[in-house]
Amino acid sequence: MSDYENYAKGSPLEVKVISKRFGIPNAASIDVYLQHDGYKGLQKALGMKPEDVINEVKNSGLRGRGGAGFNAGMKWSFVPKQSSKPKYVVCNADESEPGTCKDRPLMENDPHQLIEGILIAGHAIQSQQGYIYIRGEYRYLMDIVDRAIEEAYARGYLGKNILGSGFNFDLCTHTGAGAYECGEETALLNSLEGLRGYPRVKPPFPAVVGLYGGPTVINNVETLSNVPHILLNGAEWYAKLGTPKNGGTRLFCLSGCIARPGVYELPMGFPLRRIIEEVGGGVAGGKKLKGVIPGGSSCPVLTADEIDVAMDFESVAKAGSMLGSGGVVVLDEDACMVKVAQRIAKFYAHESCGWCVPCREGTAWLKNLLTRFHSGAGVEDDVDTGLDVALNILGKTLCPLGDAAAMPAISIFKKFRHEFEEHLKLGRCPYEKRKVSVA
Ligand code: SF4
Repeated sequence: MSDYENYAKGSPLEVKVISKRFGIPNAASIDVYLQHDGYKGLQKALGMKPEDVINEVKNSGLRGRGGAGFNAGMKWSFVPKQSSKPKYVVCNADESEPGTCKDRPLMENDPHQLIEGILIAGHAIQSQQGYIYIRGEYRYLMDIVDRAIEEAYARGYLGKNILGSGFNFDLCTHTGAGAYECGEETALLNSLEGLRGYPRVKPPFPAVVGLYGGPTVINNVETLSNVPHILLNGAEWYAKLGTPKNGGTRLFCLSGCIARPGVYELPMGFPLRRIIEEVGGGVAGGKKLKGVIPGGSSCPVLTADEIDVAMDFESVAKAGSMLGSGGVVVLDEDACMVKVAQRIAKFYAHESCGWCVPCREGTAWLKNLLTRFHSGAGVEDDVDTGLDVALNILGKTLCPLGDAAAMPAISIFKKFRHEFEEHLKLGRCPYEKRKVSVA
């Protein structure tokens, strides 16, 4: 079954809020959107004071779905009320984390939900201009989102005097060029300005000095897609869907060695074990579980014994990993963990922007060491050397990409040391004749 069939089929355990229109014929069109509560959240927001909209989002417990998990309303509240420069709303649609594929169906199936969320954010911070920065590889989505933007202009939901409220807002899409680094908010702003996608030194934070030096709110697609529902149904309703510190639902992207891969919307705090065993139907082919990457490739790997964890930011952190971007990658007994570490290291070495030394040199070292090791040419000291390299990247880089490269490597070196030893003993990969399952 394809991922797309899984979106439509879903799981009876799902609580569909932002994915509730997935699978409805023509869901991306404004007519269908309007038939299903479309733009009602905006209507309500426009009747409220901007600070009340911010408080509503703050009280809902909506936290950034891009990975950092910061309270979205709090982020909006940092934007100064008075500004000599224009304010901006930027939607981060540069979804590139391996294992994560939930912003794609949101834009593909429900672009007006995203546009409505951006408009509400625009009203809340008193901005008149928004951008949706879409990753280069999602080029086909730009046509869908552009068409939705055109429809919104034609029906008076974008442009001047929206719904007769006096609120003006313009919105356009902008394509990235395929750099993972441009998912980092300040690198994204540089890229949007036509500069090389290097991250900026923080502070100042974008809420104060952002796009073209103006105060800027940057939120991910999933985060903004939740906003219309919060306005329409209230902060309390949304907060109660999740846990006390983690409001609402979350799109989890199940991939790897799982019987039913797909994107599933579940309440925050849903147990990881149940996601794998009940929602995803267990490990594919009835094999044994070896490990799980719970939130995208930048997160430390959890072993099969560590999956009794609630999927909210605090609980996953307590278990030694991160909720990240919701990309749950399942690894079965045939997955070679040295190969998994090598593939992840290769990705980050390729995506390092090269600006700071620990990341630029460290990621290349990790990739080379793991590639050599997996080929059978490893030596005994390699595990400690690799661990030392990763520990010298961790916390020592300008942007989170360094940590993203270091954390999964550290977890694999520490938790799966026996697999490295097995490679050394055999002088080759013990799994090479079997299926190698890597996200
Ligand atoms: Fe660039 Fe890596 Fe440094 Fe980030 S951590 S600024 S990606 S070199």
